[in-house]
Amino acid sequence: MGGSYEAILYDGRSAAGRPCAVTPTSSMLDLRFGDGTSDAWPYDTLSLISDEGDGSRIVLAPGPKADERLTIMSPGVFRDLLAAIPSLRDQQPTRGYRAAALTAGAIILVLALAWLGYPVLKDGAVAMFPEQWSDRIGREMVNDEAMFEKPCTGARGLAALDRLAARLSEGAGLPEPITVHVRSAGEVNAFASTGGHIALLDGLIQQAETPEEVAGVLAHEIGHVKHRHPLKRLIDVAGIQLIVTGISGDVGAVGTTVLMLNYGRKAEAQADDTALVLLDQAGIAASGLADFFDRMQKKNEDRINFVPFLRTHPPLADRSRLMHSHKPPASLRPALTEQEWRDVRAVCAGVADAS
Ligand SMILES: [Zn+2]
Repeated sequence: MGGSYEAILYDGRSAAGRPCAVTPTSSMLDLRFGDGTSDAWPYDTLSLISDEGDGSRIVLAPGPKADERLTIMSPGVFRDLLAAIPSLRDQQPTRGYRAAALTAGAIILVLALAWLGYPVLKDGAVAMFPEQWSDRIGREMVNDEAMFEKPCTGARGLAALDRLAARLSEGAGLPEPITVHVRSAGEVNAFASTGGHIALLDGLIQQAETPEEVAGVLAHEIGHVKHRHPLKRLIDVAGIQLIVTGISGDVGAVGTTVLMLNYGRKAEAQADDTALVLLDQAGIAASGLADFFDRMQKKNEDRINFVPFLRTHPPLADRSRLMHSHKPPASLRPALTEQEWRDVRAVCAGVADAS
């Protein structure tokens, strides 16, 4: 295995993560932070919290009772770390449980999960998950300045995006209302969080050549909200601990991790399918999303694995083919007026560069 991995450390107290470089040595993981500080996690106490099915992502804790969570994403990382750290091989992903002041409904939910078993009740947990927590966690996640820089406040641009989201959501039967946020980060990315919170990064808006491209991406993210992928994934990653921390008012370490993930082949295809339906219903050309995929694929070939929105299965080419072969409805309307599109493009104007 080679060298070090880029990772994000969550301290278990705030939702903001600290980027670091992680190097496996003979007996410990060596963590180095941008500010020159470092940490060492010995292998003999290291806990495996979760791993992605395709081995490209792994979440570790320094000990079974620790609150810190280290998320490493890199193709093949799970296999490489298993080779370096044999003790991980015997570990089933652990799910922490922490006592907290619980409300009556929450106690029932947590006890039910503990009693009947987490996997059995996962869908139940999604259905029972209180709306306010979902909303608060989602809001906290999209407001993570360490990852997504500053909120963009251009009022006319935000209003135009709200109108676009409302047009796409009409008749969609969404479990939660959509709130669109724009963040000033230059990365080409967009993500849906819990509580219907969707964030578009300014990099994506600037790279988009037409409003239809933004509409397509937004429709895809609304697709994730419709199928509750963010909450399902969050419960997957964090398990009961999430519910307990959600109750105790401390969203904690698990927060932003979920946003770093793709949801897997099936969920991405589901979101794409829903996006096509929503775009058709709204009379917006789905070719925008296809064009966006095509251009992103050309531009980002070498770093596709590191851009969450693009690190998707099925591959972009297949997704693009699906969109291109889609028969549009008879009458199409522009996704935004020319003025709205100018407003959206300028939604981050005036936000000081965070870096
Ligand atoms: Zn997606």
